[in-house]
Amino acid sequence: MPFCERICPYCDFAVIRARPLSPEDESAYLDTLCAELHARAGAFEGRRLASIYLGGGTPSLLQARSVERILGAIRGAFPGDPEETTLEVNPSTLETARLPDFRVAGIDRISLGAQSFDDTTLRRLGRGHRASEVHRSFEACRAAGFANVSLDLIVAAPGQTLTEVEADLVAALAYAPEHLSVYELSLEPGTPFGKAAARGRLQRPGEEEAVAMLECVEARLCAAGYERYEISSYARPGHRSVHNRRYWQRLPVLGLGMGAVSSDPPSPRHPFGLRRSNPRELAPYSEGVAAGDGAGAQVEVLGAREARAEAVFLALRTGDGLDVELFAGEFGAPPRHFFARELDRLTADGLLEEAPDALRLTPRGRMLSDSVFASFL
Ligand code: SF4
Repeated sequence: MPFCERICPYCDFAVIRARPLSPEDESAYLDTLCAELHARAGAFEGRRLASIYLGGGTPSLLQARSVERILGAIRGAFPGDPEETTLEVNPSTLETARLPDFRVAGIDRISLGAQSFDDTTLRRLGRGHRASEVHRSFEACRAAGFANVSLDLIVAAPGQTLTEVEADLVAALAYAPEHLSVYELSLEPGTPFGKAAARGRLQRPGEEEAVAMLECVEARLCAAGYERYEISSYARPGHRSVHNRRYWQRLPVLGLGMGAVSSDPPSPRHPFGLRRSNPRELAPYSEGVAAGDGAGAQVEVLGAREARAEAVFLALRTGDGLDVELFAGEFGAPPRHFFARELDRLTADGLLEEAPDALRLTPRGRMLSDSVFASFL
Protein backbone atom coordinates (compact mmCIF):
# COMPACT_ATOMS: atom_id res chain seq x y z
CA MET A 1 0.00 0.00 0.00
CA PRO A 2 2.11 2.89 -1.24
CA PHE A 3 0.15 5.82 0.21
CA CYS A 4 1.55 8.03 2.98
CA GLU A 5 0.26 11.33 4.34
CA ARG A 6 3.76 12.78 4.16
CA ILE A 7 7.05 11.47 2.89
CA CYS A 8 9.70 11.03 5.57
CA PRO A 9 13.10 12.47 4.54
CA TYR A 10 14.91 9.14 5.03
CA CYS A 11 12.37 6.99 3.19
CA ASP A 12 13.53 4.90 0.26
CA PHE A 13 10.32 2.89 -0.24
CA ALA A 14 8.01 3.18 -3.25
CA VAL A 15 5.54 5.72 -1.84
CA ILE A 16 2.93 8.22 -3.01
CA ARG A 17 1.93 11.29 -1.03
CA ALA A 18 -1.81 11.19 -0.44
CA ARG A 19 -3.25 13.73 1.92
CA PRO A 20 -5.93 12.63 2.30
CA LEU A 21 -6.25 9.37 0.43
CA SER A 22 -9.38 9.89 -1.67
CA PRO A 23 -12.02 7.13 -1.75
CA GLU A 24 -11.65 7.03 -5.56
CA ASP A 25 -7.86 6.47 -5.41
CA GLU A 26 -8.29 3.90 -2.66
CA SER A 27 -10.90 1.97 -4.58
CA ALA A 28 -8.96 2.14 -7.89
CA TYR A 29 -5.82 0.86 -6.16
CA LEU A 30 -7.69 -2.03 -4.57
CA ASP A 31 -9.18 -2.99 -7.93
CA THR A 32 -5.67 -3.16 -9.38
CA LEU A 33 -4.36 -5.11 -6.39
CA CYS A 34 -7.15 -7.70 -6.68
CA ALA A 35 -6.61 -7.99 -10.43
CA GLU A 36 -2.91 -8.60 -9.81
CA LEU A 37 -3.70 -11.19 -7.15
CA HIS A 38 -5.89 -13.15 -9.53
CA ALA A 39 -3.35 -12.92 -12.35
CA ARG A 40 -0.45 -14.05 -10.12
CA ALA A 41 -2.09 -16.69 -7.93
CA GLY A 42 -1.44 -19.44 -10.50
CA ALA A 43 2.33 -19.22 -9.89
CA PHE A 44 1.64 -20.19 -6.25
CA GLU A 45 -0.91 -22.89 -6.98
CA GLY A 46 -1.13 -25.69 -4.41
CA ARG A 47 0.38 -23.55 -1.66
CA ARG A 48 -1.30 -22.71 1.61
CA LEU A 49 -1.40 -19.31 3.28
CA ALA A 50 1.30 -19.00 5.95
CA SER A 51 0.96 -15.29 6.75
CA ILE A 52 -0.52 -12.10 5.33
CA TYR A 53 1.32 -8.83 5.75
CA LEU A 54 -0.16 -5.47 4.75
CA GLY A 55 2.81 -3.13 4.63
CA GLY A 56 3.67 0.11 2.95
CA GLY A 57 3.59 2.98 2.71
CA THR A 58 0.86 3.36 5.27
CA PRO A 59 -1.75 0.62 4.80
CA SER A 60 -3.68 1.83 7.84
CA LEU A 61 -4.79 4.82 5.75
CA LEU A 62 -7.17 2.35 4.11
CA GLN A 63 -10.68 2.11 5.44
CA ALA A 64 -11.42 -1.06 7.38
CA ARG A 65 -13.76 -2.26 4.66
CA SER A 66 -10.91 -2.02 2.13
CA VAL A 67 -8.72 -4.11 4.44
CA GLU A 68 -11.57 -6.61 4.71
CA ARG A 69 -11.89 -6.68 0.93
CA ILE A 70 -8.22 -7.42 0.28
CA LEU A 71 -8.04 -10.03 3.05
CA GLY A 72 -11.17 -11.69 1.63
CA ALA A 73 -9.64 -11.78 -1.85
CA ILE A 74 -6.40 -13.33 -0.55
CA ARG A 75 -8.23 -15.94 1.53
CA GLY A 76 -10.44 -16.73 -1.45
CA ALA A 77 -7.41 -17.31 -3.67
CA PHE A 78 -5.51 -19.71 -1.40
CA PRO A 79 -6.41 -22.43 1.12
CA GLY A 80 -5.20 -22.42 4.72
CA ASP A 81 -5.47 -20.27 7.80
CA PRO A 82 -2.57 -17.79 8.07
CA GLU A 83 -0.60 -17.99 11.29
CA GLU A 84 -0.54 -14.19 11.48
CA THR A 85 -2.21 -11.33 9.61
CA THR A 86 -0.29 -8.12 10.19
CA LEU A 87 -1.16 -4.51 9.45
CA GLU A 88 1.43 -1.75 9.64
CA VAL A 89 -0.06 1.25 11.44
CA ASN A 90 1.30 4.75 11.83
CA PRO A 91 0.46 6.49 15.09
CA SER A 92 -2.17 9.03 14.09
CA THR A 93 -5.59 9.92 15.35
CA LEU A 94 -7.34 8.75 12.19
CA GLU A 95 -5.71 5.33 12.18
CA THR A 96 -6.05 4.82 15.93
CA ALA A 97 -9.80 5.30 15.65
CA ARG A 98 -9.94 2.53 13.04
CA LEU A 99 -8.14 -0.11 15.11
CA PRO A 100 -11.27 -1.90 16.42
CA ASP A 101 -12.60 -2.15 12.85
CA PHE A 102 -9.29 -3.47 11.55
CA ARG A 103 -9.54 -6.26 14.13
CA VAL A 104 -13.05 -7.11 12.99
CA ALA A 105 -11.77 -7.08 9.38
CA GLY A 106 -9.38 -9.94 10.24
CA ILE A 107 -6.12 -8.29 11.36
CA ASP A 108 -4.56 -10.07 14.37
CA ARG A 109 -1.14 -8.42 14.58
CA ILE A 110 -0.22 -4.73 14.52
CA SER A 111 3.18 -3.36 13.59
CA LEU A 112 3.21 0.17 15.00
CA GLY A 113 5.67 2.61 13.43
CA ALA A 114 6.49 4.41 16.68
CA GLN A 115 10.16 5.14 15.76
CA SER A 116 10.68 7.08 19.01
CA PHE A 117 8.92 8.29 22.15
CA ASP A 118 10.77 11.57 22.04
CA ASP A 119 9.24 14.58 20.28
CA THR A 120 12.60 16.12 19.36
CA THR A 121 13.79 12.87 17.75
CA LEU A 122 10.49 12.47 15.90
CA ARG A 123 10.73 16.04 14.63
CA ARG A 124 14.33 15.56 13.51
CA LEU A 125 13.30 12.38 11.69
CA GLY A 126 10.65 14.41 9.86
CA ARG A 127 7.85 12.23 11.20
CA GLY A 128 4.31 13.55 11.19
CA HIS A 129 3.35 12.12 14.60
CA ARG A 130 4.36 12.99 18.15
CA ALA A 131 5.05 10.87 21.24
CA SER A 132 1.58 11.43 22.67
CA GLU A 133 0.12 9.77 19.56
CA VAL A 134 2.43 6.76 19.97
CA HIS A 135 1.16 6.33 23.53
CA ARG A 136 -2.45 6.70 22.44
CA SER A 137 -2.01 4.27 19.53
CA PHE A 138 -0.43 1.57 21.65
CA GLU A 139 -3.13 1.88 24.28
CA ALA A 140 -5.78 1.77 21.54
CA CYS A 141 -4.21 -1.44 20.13
CA ARG A 142 -4.63 -3.14 23.49
CA ALA A 143 -8.10 -1.67 24.02
CA ALA A 144 -9.14 -3.06 20.61
CA GLY A 145 -7.99 -6.51 21.76
CA PHE A 146 -4.72 -6.86 19.83
CA ALA A 147 -2.59 -9.29 21.83
CA ASN A 148 0.25 -9.27 19.32
CA VAL A 149 1.81 -5.85 18.77
CA SER A 150 5.21 -5.04 17.36
CA LEU A 151 6.89 -1.64 17.79
CA ASP A 152 9.40 -0.14 15.35
CA LEU A 153 12.13 2.05 16.80
CA ILE A 154 14.94 3.93 15.03
CA VAL A 155 18.33 4.53 16.63
CA ALA A 156 21.22 6.77 15.55
CA ALA A 157 18.73 9.42 14.39
CA PRO A 158 20.10 12.94 13.76
CA GLY A 159 21.16 14.53 17.04
CA GLN A 160 20.08 11.51 19.10
CA THR A 161 22.06 10.66 22.23
CA LEU A 162 22.58 7.36 24.04
CA THR A 163 20.52 8.69 26.94
CA GLU A 164 17.62 9.36 24.57
CA VAL A 165 17.86 5.84 23.16
CA GLU A 166 17.74 4.47 26.70
CA ALA A 167 14.66 6.59 27.42
CA ASP A 168 12.98 5.26 24.26
CA LEU A 169 13.66 1.69 25.41
CA VAL A 170 12.22 2.37 28.87
CA ALA A 171 9.10 3.89 27.29
CA ALA A 172 8.70 0.97 24.86
CA LEU A 173 9.22 -1.66 27.54
CA ALA A 174 6.56 -0.06 29.72
CA TYR A 175 4.04 -1.38 27.18
CA ALA A 176 5.59 -4.88 27.03
CA PRO A 177 5.06 -5.25 23.26
CA GLU A 178 5.31 -8.81 21.98
CA HIS A 179 7.89 -7.80 19.38
CA LEU A 180 10.30 -4.93 18.69
CA SER A 181 12.11 -4.07 15.47
CA VAL A 182 15.00 -1.71 16.13
CA TYR A 183 16.76 -0.24 13.10
CA GLU A 184 19.79 1.96 12.83
CA LEU A 185 18.82 4.89 10.58
CA SER A 186 20.24 4.22 7.16
CA LEU A 187 20.99 7.04 4.74
CA GLU A 188 19.90 6.08 1.27
CA PRO A 189 21.30 8.05 -1.67
CA GLY A 190 18.69 10.24 -3.34
CA THR A 191 16.62 10.79 -0.18
CA PRO A 192 16.68 14.26 1.44
CA PHE A 193 18.69 12.80 4.36
CA GLY A 194 21.08 11.04 1.98
CA LYS A 195 21.67 14.28 0.07
CA ALA A 196 22.10 16.34 3.25
CA ALA A 197 24.61 13.80 4.59
CA ALA A 198 26.55 13.89 1.31
CA ARG A 199 26.83 17.70 1.71
CA GLY A 200 27.94 17.25 5.31
CA ARG A 201 24.75 18.88 6.60
CA LEU A 202 23.26 16.09 8.66
CA GLN A 203 24.44 15.74 12.23
CA ARG A 204 24.38 12.08 13.13
CA PRO A 205 25.90 10.09 15.97
CA GLY A 206 29.38 8.83 15.11
CA GLU A 207 30.14 5.17 14.43
CA GLU A 208 31.22 4.42 18.00
CA GLU A 209 28.14 6.11 19.43
CA ALA A 210 25.90 4.16 17.06
CA VAL A 211 27.56 0.89 18.13
CA ALA A 212 27.06 1.86 21.80
CA MET A 213 23.37 2.52 21.07
CA LEU A 214 22.88 -0.87 19.41
CA GLU A 215 24.72 -2.60 22.27
CA CYS A 216 22.48 -0.79 24.73
CA VAL A 217 19.39 -1.93 22.80
CA GLU A 218 20.51 -5.55 22.93
CA ALA A 219 21.45 -5.43 26.61
CA ARG A 220 18.22 -3.71 27.72
CA LEU A 221 15.86 -5.82 25.65
CA CYS A 222 17.52 -9.14 26.42
CA ALA A 223 17.50 -8.26 30.14
CA ALA A 224 13.77 -7.63 29.80
CA GLY A 225 13.18 -11.15 28.43
CA TYR A 226 13.31 -10.52 24.69
CA GLU A 227 15.26 -12.75 22.35
CA ARG A 228 17.32 -11.11 19.62
CA TYR A 229 16.37 -13.62 16.94
CA GLU A 230 17.48 -11.50 13.99
CA ILE A 231 19.82 -8.53 13.61
CA SER A 232 17.03 -5.94 14.05
CA SER A 233 14.29 -8.10 15.59
CA TYR A 234 13.50 -8.88 19.20
CA ALA A 235 10.62 -11.04 20.40
CA ARG A 236 9.12 -12.27 23.61
CA PRO A 237 9.01 -16.10 23.68
CA GLY A 238 6.62 -17.44 21.06
CA HIS A 239 6.32 -14.14 19.20
CA ARG A 240 8.91 -14.26 16.43
CA SER A 241 7.48 -12.79 13.22
CA VAL A 242 6.14 -15.57 11.02
CA HIS A 243 6.19 -13.36 7.97
CA ASN A 244 9.75 -12.07 8.19
CA ARG A 245 11.04 -15.61 8.75
CA ARG A 246 9.90 -16.45 5.23
CA TYR A 247 12.36 -13.94 3.76
CA TRP A 248 15.28 -15.17 5.85
CA GLN A 249 14.50 -18.79 4.98
CA ARG A 250 14.01 -17.95 1.29
CA LEU A 251 10.49 -19.33 1.25
CA PRO A 252 8.05 -18.26 -1.48
CA VAL A 253 6.38 -14.88 -0.95
CA LEU A 254 3.74 -13.40 -3.24
CA GLY A 255 4.29 -9.62 -3.15
CA LEU A 256 1.42 -7.57 -4.57
CA GLY A 257 1.23 -3.86 -5.25
CA MET A 258 3.36 -1.02 -6.53
CA GLY A 259 7.04 -1.69 -5.79
CA ALA A 260 6.31 -5.11 -4.22
CA VAL A 261 8.88 -7.89 -4.56
CA SER A 262 7.94 -11.56 -4.90
CA SER A 263 9.93 -14.75 -4.51
CA ASP A 264 8.20 -17.20 -6.81
CA PRO A 265 8.45 -20.88 -5.85
CA PRO A 266 11.11 -23.07 -7.48
CA SER A 267 10.01 -25.04 -10.53
CA PRO A 268 11.73 -27.63 -12.76
CA ARG A 269 12.59 -24.80 -15.17
CA HIS A 270 13.80 -22.45 -12.42
CA PRO A 271 15.08 -24.68 -9.61
CA PHE A 272 16.09 -21.69 -7.46
CA GLY A 273 12.95 -19.67 -8.14
CA LEU A 274 12.35 -16.23 -9.62
CA ARG A 275 12.42 -12.79 -8.10
CA ARG A 276 9.87 -10.32 -9.44
CA SER A 277 10.04 -6.62 -8.67
CA ASN A 278 6.98 -4.57 -9.51
CA PRO A 279 7.42 -1.04 -10.92
CA ARG A 280 7.97 1.59 -8.23
CA GLU A 281 5.63 4.10 -9.93
CA LEU A 282 1.84 3.87 -9.96
CA ALA A 283 1.16 4.35 -13.70
CA PRO A 284 3.48 1.61 -15.02
CA TYR A 285 2.35 -0.74 -12.26
CA SER A 286 -1.38 -0.20 -12.96
CA GLU A 287 -0.84 -0.34 -16.73
CA GLY A 288 1.15 -3.57 -16.35
CA VAL A 289 -1.66 -5.20 -14.39
CA ALA A 290 -4.28 -3.96 -16.86
CA ALA A 291 -2.23 -5.30 -19.79
CA GLY A 292 -2.04 -8.68 -18.06
CA ASP A 293 1.74 -8.84 -18.33
CA GLY A 294 2.53 -9.58 -14.69
CA ALA A 295 2.28 -5.96 -13.50
CA GLY A 296 5.22 -4.98 -15.73
CA ALA A 297 7.57 -6.57 -13.21
CA GLN A 298 11.29 -6.99 -13.66
CA VAL A 299 12.02 -10.70 -13.47
CA GLU A 300 15.31 -12.12 -12.27
CA VAL A 301 16.01 -15.82 -12.65
CA LEU A 302 18.03 -16.94 -9.65
CA GLY A 303 21.03 -19.12 -10.44
CA ALA A 304 22.73 -21.57 -8.05
CA ARG A 305 25.50 -19.08 -7.25
CA GLU A 306 23.16 -16.23 -6.24
CA ALA A 307 20.89 -18.63 -4.37
CA ARG A 308 23.84 -20.00 -2.34
CA ALA A 309 25.05 -16.52 -1.44
CA GLU A 310 21.54 -15.46 -0.44
CA ALA A 311 21.02 -18.61 1.59
CA VAL A 312 24.16 -17.78 3.59
CA PHE A 313 23.69 -14.10 4.25
CA LEU A 314 19.94 -14.25 4.89
CA ALA A 315 20.33 -17.09 7.39
CA LEU A 316 23.24 -15.29 9.06
CA ARG A 317 20.86 -12.43 9.86
CA THR A 318 19.11 -14.77 12.28
CA GLY A 319 20.18 -15.91 15.73
CA ASP A 320 19.78 -19.54 14.64
CA GLY A 321 22.27 -18.96 11.84
CA LEU A 322 22.79 -21.11 8.76
CA ASP A 323 21.82 -24.76 9.14
CA VAL A 324 24.71 -26.61 7.48
CA GLU A 325 22.72 -29.77 6.79
CA LEU A 326 19.80 -27.90 5.22
CA PHE A 327 22.22 -25.95 3.03
CA ALA A 328 23.99 -29.14 1.91
CA GLY A 329 20.59 -30.74 1.17
CA GLU A 330 19.70 -27.90 -1.19
CA PHE A 331 23.07 -27.22 -2.82
CA GLY A 332 24.75 -30.64 -2.75
CA ALA A 333 27.63 -29.76 -0.40
CA PRO A 334 28.15 -27.83 2.88
CA PRO A 335 28.91 -24.08 2.85
CA ARG A 336 32.65 -24.68 3.35
CA HIS A 337 32.80 -26.40 -0.04
CA PHE A 338 31.78 -23.13 -1.74
CA PHE A 339 33.05 -20.46 0.66
CA ALA A 340 36.20 -21.86 2.35
CA ARG A 341 38.27 -18.69 1.86
CA GLU A 342 35.50 -16.37 3.13
CA LEU A 343 34.77 -18.57 6.15
CA ASP A 344 38.46 -18.78 7.11
CA ARG A 345 38.84 -15.00 6.91
CA LEU A 346 35.64 -14.16 8.76
CA THR A 347 36.30 -16.64 11.58
CA ALA A 348 39.90 -15.41 11.91
CA ASP A 349 38.56 -11.83 12.16
CA GLY A 350 36.17 -12.89 14.94
CA LEU A 351 33.06 -12.12 12.89
CA LEU A 352 31.74 -15.64 12.42
CA GLU A 353 31.48 -18.83 14.49
CA GLU A 354 31.64 -22.10 12.60
CA ALA A 355 30.17 -25.12 14.39
CA PRO A 356 29.66 -28.51 12.69
CA ASP A 357 25.90 -27.95 12.48
CA ALA A 358 25.59 -24.17 11.95
CA LEU A 359 27.30 -20.91 11.03
CA ARG A 360 26.48 -17.88 13.17
CA LEU A 361 27.57 -14.27 13.47
CA THR A 362 29.53 -13.35 16.58
CA PRO A 363 28.42 -10.23 18.52
CA ARG A 364 31.12 -8.29 16.62
CA GLY A 365 29.86 -9.84 13.35
CA ARG A 366 26.37 -8.56 14.11
CA MET A 367 27.75 -5.03 14.46
CA LEU A 368 29.62 -5.33 11.15
CA SER A 369 27.01 -7.48 9.42
CA ASP A 370 26.95 -5.51 6.17
CA SER A 371 30.61 -6.17 5.50
CA VAL A 372 30.19 -9.87 6.47
CA PHE A 373 27.31 -10.25 4.01
CA ALA A 374 29.24 -8.49 1.26
CA SER A 375 31.90 -11.25 1.52
CA PHE A 376 29.44 -13.77 0.08
CA LEU A 377 28.26 -11.72 -2.89
S1 SF4 B 1 5.63 6.56 6.82
FE1 SF4 B 1 7.06 4.90 6.32
S2 SF4 B 1 6.67 4.40 4.18
FE2 SF4 B 1 5.69 6.39 4.57
S3 SF4 B 1 7.21 7.91 3.95
FE3 SF4 B 1 7.51 7.55 6.15
S4 SF4 B 1 9.07 5.92 6.27
FE4 SF4 B 1 8.26 5.94 4.15
